[in-house]
Amino acid sequence: MLADSREIIREVSTASNLDEALAIFATRVKDYLPIDAFAIYLIGAEAGQYVLKASDTARPEAKGQVCSGAEAGLMGLVSKHRELVFLNNASAHPRYAPAAETGGQPFDTFLGILLIHHHQVLGVLVVWKRVCHQFEKNELSFLVSIAAQFAKAVYDASNVDPVVELVHNEAGKNTYIQGIQAASGVAIGTATLIDRLAKLESVPDRRAEDINAQEVAFRAAVLAIQAELGASSERLNGVVPKEVCELFEVYIMLLGDDSLVADTLTRIRAGNWAPGSWRDTISEHAQAFDRMEDPYLRARGEDIRELGTRVLIQLQLGFKASRLYPERCILVGDAVSIQDIALVPTGRLAGVVSAEGSAFSHIAVLSNALGIPAVVSLSSPPVCIVEGATVAVDGDNARIYVNPSLALLNSLKEQIEPQIALSPAQIKDRDLPAQTLDGVRLPLHANIGLDSDIDPARNSEAEGVGLYRTEYQFLSRDIFPGEEEQYQCYRRLLEGFAPRSVTIRTLDVGGDKTLSYFPMEEDNPFLGVRGIRFSLAYPQIFMIQLRALLRANAGLENLQILFPMVAKVMEVDEALGLLARAHRELLEEGQPAAKPKVGVMIEVPSAVFLTKSFATRVDFLSIGTNDLTQYILAADRTNARVMTANDALHPAVLNAISMIIRDAHAQDTSVTVCGEVAGDPAGAVLLLGIGVDALSMNLANFERVKLVIRAFTLKRARALANQALRQEDERLVRGLLNNALKGSGVKKHRSSLDARTGSDAGAFAG
Ligand code: PEP
Ligand code: MG
Repeated sequence: MLADSREIIREVSTASNLDEALAIFATRVKDYLPIDAFAIYLIGAEAGQYVLKASDTARPEAKGQVCSGAEAGLMGLVSKHRELVFLNNASAHPRYAPAAETGGQPFDTFLGILLIHHHQVLGVLVVWKRVCHQFEKNELSFLVSIAAQFAKAVYDASNVDPVVELVHNEAGKNTYIQGIQAASGVAIGTATLIDRLAKLESVPDRRAEDINAQEVAFRAAVLAIQAELGASSERLNGVVPKEVCELFEVYIMLLGDDSLVADTLTRIRAGNWAPGSWRDTISEHAQAFDRMEDPYLRARGEDIRELGTRVLIQLQLGFKASRLYPERCILVGDAVSIQDIALVPTGRLAGVVSAEGSAFSHIAVLSNALGIPAVVSLSSPPVCIVEGATVAVDGDNARIYVNPSLALLNSLKEQIEPQIALSPAQIKDRDLPAQTLDGVRLPLHANIGLDSDIDPARNSEAEGVGLYRTEYQFLSRDIFPGEEEQYQCYRRLLEGFAPRSVTIRTLDVGGDKTLSYFPMEEDNPFLGVRGIRFSLAYPQIFMIQLRALLRANAGLENLQILFPMVAKVMEVDEALGLLARAHRELLEEGQPAAKPKVGVMIEVPSAVFLTKSFATRVDFLSIGTNDLTQYILAADRTNARVMTANDALHPAVLNAISMIIRDAHAQDTSVTVCGEVAGDPAGAVLLLGIGVDALSMNLANFERVKLVIRAFTLKRARALANQALRQEDERLVRGLLNNALKGSGVKKHRSSLDARTGSDAGAFAG
């Protein structure tokens, strides 16, 4: 039976639009279930409303009609209970009423299942039988699984139509794609599609500027893959089973089939670029195989798609070199990476739109640091956003507008004005330090990562750099930077800030920061070779960075080195050992070098419990709440679906921070917080109360954080922290802070998580 459910869903998933998907489902479901009638209702425009979308017995004109009594009848029972409702004596139920969808026939068996995806109710699937019928267990599980899978198909398909409407900006309507805020602010610019388009279905359409060049690139990619497949087949001949080798032969044969190539060339000549033309050809051919009865031939559909991806990757390699970035570039992609962001020339990046990702991923951190509006985790894939389209990114409301009307453009431009409304008195106070009403100063440091951040930070009141993320320098290139290049970069930075201290974090790659020139295939990269694990696994790379850092510190002595993602004491000892060795080597070579202060990041749960051991070995600790939160709450920071679970103000995280501070202070070791929560006014007050020694944040947050610090006494912040630490839930913590912050003067600000999730729970009424 399970195989049958997969069969229907596979067919549904090949449909090109929602109606086709519904029709396939409608014609096939009765082959598998002994039912007399069925209907599918999808949620209507108004609350509690269902619209009949598919049924085999209802009059055709009934389709599209709002289902009357949706709340009252047996359908209402399904919505109310939010679970499967099965009645095999339905006519005796008080909510029973004959349904038009059964062709007016009475029925005694009723089964209704909600279609839910991503916690969103999309509709109801109902089946009826005239007589009393006890469904078999496997029939029920068939229905449950098919409903779950069908809900996904409805969800995906229903997102396509609004996108088409949006791209054409039909009837001047300013429709938008909703997403999640990764960085606030509004930007208007030109869509620039990222090159990493290994997913065929994500390849956008793009007008071919030079048709001949597209043809040449396409033919070259096909030839390269044919050669690669031929070589693989030869190499593996006799090494792997015959069937595996035959697969290569099938691929070579498919690629040699003129129709794939010829059809693509026809599309290129019609004006689409090679990847877009290839996408359409592959989709058409794969679907033709999908529809075949013979299982062997049907499986060829997958082969065609696999081949499609290979050729696409090859095509991308050819296109990468010729990338051009417009003046105000809005990067758009399926999964924009921080590498994509770092590749955009300084001053050109205006906004970021990524179909995937979450508010805590590194692209969010980087966009925030750069002050670039960013929207991620879109409700619809951005496949229809063509290169060169005008795109408005409204980070404040997490919306994307494509080719917006002039009126909307004008109103969005007004929003590009300064985001925080400071009163004249507050503007006057802007140069005063972050000092509580009872005179306690909380040093504020800057988080920076790109060269373009250096000048603004240097000219700001930041007491130093609390976190310089060196990986951005590594990500924006094609090979590892050498010692001299790294030295120049660190030296510029240290000179720029001297005598203020600069905390430079050693390479923190892995997780969602992968080096294109050093790929690592890991099933679970966030639990893999990240941060210090990478550096210790490749000491030759680590030593180059340590040497460059020590040399840069010579004569300036304002460097502080920070080791990321430390989980074990042994890692600190090894890293310190390598640092000492690098220093020794430099002195032996007669090179000027100076030992810096050294710190460890506390950002994984084991480190919380090892604070005391770390504190006795290093000079300072820095808490990375972005990672600490994801690891304590087991909620992937890049996964938008668990975003609400990923809140640094969760009492479990706050208690961990409190433990770290207690154990570090017992050893006279200072603790800074450099995760994003340090730049959240509510978070900053709480951290002050818990006892942190300094905060490090993006410059954009200085104003607001200072404002709240200046509105509190240390005593009050401590009382607040004590209360927060005793709560059981982050919402209670936010409620508490919300009340406390009223009157602090921070207006129009929503804590980052509230703004991102659209909740108002953390709005500071001011
Ligand atoms: C953190 O994890 O809080 C942190 C500052 O590091 P990153 O965001 O770069 O992982
Ligand atoms: Mg981190």
